[in-house]
Amino acid sequence: MADKKQKKTYILKIDSDKCKGCELCIEFCPKDVLELSKNLNKKGSKYSVMARPDDCIGCRACVLMCPDVCIELFEVEQEDK
Ligand code: SF4
Ligand code: SF4
Repeated sequence: MADKKQKKTYILKIDSDKCKGCELCIEFCPKDVLELSKNLNKKGSKYSVMARPDDCIGCRACVLMCPDVCIELFEVEQEDK
């Protein structure tokens, strides 16, 4: 029986209407996962989006850096195909 490896992936929940587009999370992400949206939120700001989710290593730098606590991190276990 072949070993099935568990691969961890990470999902960020970003409160786009709370985000003010300060870019701190983008600047501090070591893996360049985040970028600003093209669209505007309710406040008229661009907001942070997870542009390259596969590159996220779950370091939580973005969660800790956000001054408005807009980001939550979730870990998902997936079987490697
Ligand atoms: S958890 Fe780390 S790698 Fe993932 S988006 Fe946030 S700062 Fe980047
Ligand atoms: S640090 Fe927070 S407020 Fe600033 S761009 Fe990122 S999610 Fe938005």
